Amino acid sequence: MNRAIKGQCLCGYIKYKYLGPTGKIVHCHCSKCRKWHGSPYRSRIVIRRDGFKWISGEDHLSFYDSSENVTKSFCKHCGSNLVSFYKNNNTILGLPLGGIEGDLNDIEQIHILTKYKALWYQISDNYEQYAELPVDPSIIRKIVE
Ligand SMILES: [Zn+2]
Ligand SMILES: [Zn+2]
Repeated sequence: MNRAIKGQCLCGYIKYKYLGPTGKIVHCHCSKCRKWHGSPYRSRIVIRRDGFKWISGEDHLSFYDSSENVTKSFCKHCGSNLVSFYKNNNTILGLPLGGIEGDLNDIEQIHILTKYKALWYQISDNYEQYAELPVDPSIIRKIVE
């Protein structure tokens, strides 16, 4: 199912849009995501790179290699987290959901790496939880056409 998504960074200089299918909404509780987002967990979906476009502010992007396989982007003016690039799969991007406009509430949601969650945070919804990374990587990477 194709979705039209728009979003922007906090200062509004960087704007983006996406048209295409997405993966599940993944709430990641690992310590890297908690630090990067300054929050109890990170919420993101995977999207197809060929459906994603920067509308404005691409010159304000800054990049950080958070692991061998992952490069994260953010606004160098306001610090907002933007898309993640995966070196082992350049056909998809990880899109953090805090910056998007509108609703995605019909997409399936899951929690991953809950073994590492912030001790002060209690998960109070009924979405499926994975203590570690799911053994089947398609659970967090697969885009539903
Ligand atoms: Zn910004
Ligand atoms: Zn994580």
